[in-house]
Amino acid sequence: MAVATDIQKVLEDAAAELYVWALKDIPQDLRDALVSARGRETSVPGLRVLDTIIRNVQVAEEERNLVCQDTGIPVYYCRVGEGFPLHPARIAEALRDGTERATIEHPLRSNTVHTLTRENTGQNVGHRVPILHWEFVPDWDGLDVKCVPKGSGSENMSFLKMCTPAEGVGGIKRFVLESIVGSGGKPCPPGIIGVGIGGSADYAMHLAKEAIARPVGTRNGDPLVAELEGELFDLINETGIGPMGLGGDVTALAVHVEHADTHMTLNPVAVNYQCWAARRATVHISADGVADFDREA
Ligand code: SF4
Repeated sequence: MAVATDIQKVLEDAAAELYVWALKDIPQDLRDALVSARGRETSVPGLRVLDTIIRNVQVAEEERNLVCQDTGIPVYYCRVGEGFPLHPARIAEALRDGTERATIEHPLRSNTVHTLTRENTGQNVGHRVPILHWEFVPDWDGLDVKCVPKGSGSENMSFLKMCTPAEGVGGIKRFVLESIVGSGGKPCPPGIIGVGIGGSADYAMHLAKEAIARPVGTRNGDPLVAELEGELFDLINETGIGPMGLGGDVTALAVHVEHADTHMTLNPVAVNYQCWAARRATVHISADGVADFDREA
């Protein structure tokens, strides 16, 4: 029990650090993707926007400040080894306490409200907030926690369609394109387009959300899915929406697709948009309570 409590404290401290760190110091792959986007952009407004975004990232680093004022809704992806000496209920408690502390100690803007009354529920915590995703890993005694603060501008541009199997891959591509064109500049492009296909309605959206949390530009391990990622990337960047919707060559920094097998009469497709401020940070916690932070995971 004593060991578990110490690890809970380590995790709470790590979560408090992780949330703020994710908001200030974006991963190198995202920085590289923004610079590469600047190299591909030809429109004058698009170049101005990308220059401003790149400068924004530099200023945030120099001033040790946030890359965007929207501190998002806190989302954590937890990979829990079967031998990790802290029950998931206590992991959830530590992440909630850490989120609360980060919000008070920095301080950060508190975004969380009751969905019906719209009253603020406190320090970025509330009923079922932070949002937690779980994966349980056999033959391992560690814990990985990835924090992905999700801005509302991009989260509001989330879409689900239950295509028919007859619509096939063409229906999937059409729906993704319609979603992106309909979103225009609202989700603060250029961003990462997360697409979830297969499974069920809820699981497709879960997969789309998982997709945006991957390092920028990584390809799905399934060659067919990877091919779809490449095709969608080209199609989306041909829309001309451009940085912040002001027109240009770069609308997507990357397209990530995650898939699950599905029912023979289902063809679900979900889109979850991640803005240019695609913040994420990870901490690895060992069974003996050592926290190792990783900005690139
Ligand atoms: S969508 Fe992203 S970049 Fe735009 S305001 Fe929200 S967090 Fe900031």
